[in-house]
Amino acid sequence: MGIEDSGYDSVKEIRMFHSTLVSTFRTGKTKDIAWRKWQLKQLWWLVEENEQAIVDAIKGDLNRPGFETYLTDLAGIRKDILYHLDNIDTWTADEPVGDSFIAKRLGVARIRKEPLGVVLIIGAWNFPVLLVLQPLIAAITAGCCAIIKPSELTVACQNLLRDLVTRYLDPTAIRVVCGGVDETTKLLELPFNHIFFTGSANVGRHISTAAAKSLTPTTLELGGQCPAIVGRSANLERAAKAIAYSKFLNAGQICLAVNHVFVDAAVHDEFVKRLRHWSQQFLHGEQKITTAIVNQQNWDRLSSLLQQTKGTVVCGGGQSDELCRMEPAVVIGLDMDDPLLVEEIFGPICPILKSDVREACRTIKSKDYPLALPLEYQDVITDEKETVLDNTNSGGVTINDVILHAGFPGAPFGGVGEVDMATIMWFDRLLAFRYPPYSAANKAKMPKTKATFKRGETIQDQRA
Ligand code: NAD
Repeated sequence: MGIEDSGYDSVKEIRMFHSTLVSTFRTGKTKDIAWRKWQLKQLWWLVEENEQAIVDAIKGDLNRPGFETYLTDLAGIRKDILYHLDNIDTWTADEPVGDSFIAKRLGVARIRKEPLGVVLIIGAWNFPVLLVLQPLIAAITAGCCAIIKPSELTVACQNLLRDLVTRYLDPTAIRVVCGGVDETTKLLELPFNHIFFTGSANVGRHISTAAAKSLTPTTLELGGQCPAIVGRSANLERAAKAIAYSKFLNAGQICLAVNHVFVDAAVHDEFVKRLRHWSQQFLHGEQKITTAIVNQQNWDRLSSLLQQTKGTVVCGGGQSDELCRMEPAVVIGLDMDDPLLVEEIFGPICPILKSDVREACRTIKSKDYPLALPLEYQDVITDEKETVLDNTNSGGVTINDVILHAGFPGAPFGGVGEVDMATIMWFDRLLAFRYPPYSAANKAKMPKTKATFKRGETIQDQRA
């Protein structure tokens, strides 16, 4: 398909967008706090007034049930916009330097926060709207201009984002570039002040190499394996439900989804029984709808892993249909050398390994640091929680649930360096609305995030 046919931007357009943004940044327009607040509010209305269009685009690209989009892409963006609006004045204010009374009193030295310049945001397909708009919120708050490059695999979302961003946001400062590898390679030849990339580690290496040529700083949000640990003392019902959910939501195509589970031998059989139950229960609800695997290539990859595994597939797998759906699969009786565990699975397959907490920690430590580590325990038998926290490194730990540690505004998110941790014993009931099968009741029970400002506010209103 030629560039003209694909809706991708030509090299000429890409260069033009970039030079417009560079010129805008030089005028100082985006440094104005009023401009930043105005653009954050415009982004809010972009989401609010086009909620259904976003749900439909993601359904078109991934066959994702609408409720999952409300819960993930849309809720995440809304929460972040309000959090940034609440904090922008504090975050952008000068900070006095030095602890001494005189230094503080006289304000002799202070830190002034300056925007970096023009930034590039490259997104992945699994949360095609969230993964580009969330970093955009941060870029706007910081006073930067931004080019967004959504994933070309989610075509409907890519096209919708181009249309909405052009209509709602300041086109002299924020632009969407549509394209695949060729267009992204051209973009990477241009000078940026920061690159924010979400995607696979392999492509992350290309981005890093390209950025190194101009010493451009990067933030790389990559994939990896996230193992869960189920200790002897775990509440098996809750553990199985949460883990089955992480493989059902977005068909397990989540960087924070459980990749595989270490289960203490004493509770292995009962855990597998409960996991099978919940996997089937979620699947065979009223609607029988699951998110699709993004494309045939990925469906074939997952299917081939299920054929190669030396373990036993006790449920799921299933046949591909025209929508590339796959029933969540549970695999037992395998070890760490199994083909299923060589790379991040990124799909609805859940391998189970027999291992006590200490042995699981040793195995986890011998591999790359995971992005997330869910732990299920009750601590009546041994101090399982402290054993895991003391003996593993990961980007974040969710205790007695999955994924949720990433949902707390202000908590660090990312690979190893800063670890965020959430102990979530009592959340399950509060968040019961999240579980499939989905019906209108799920959305009705979901907490609403409301705007704290009125529609139609202009940049002048922000200055008042
Ligand atoms: P990907 O790396 O294939 O693609 C990501 C982006 O890079 C896309 O916009 C794509 O157009 C671009 N790209 C692809 N090849 C390129 C190349 N050779 N040069 C320049 N750009 C190129 O990733 P994906 O398949 O879209 O997403 C899945 C991966 O993303 C998984 O590994 C997942 O774990 C990871 N992920 C991580 C996070 C996180 O926050 N850490 C979040 C979501 C997804």
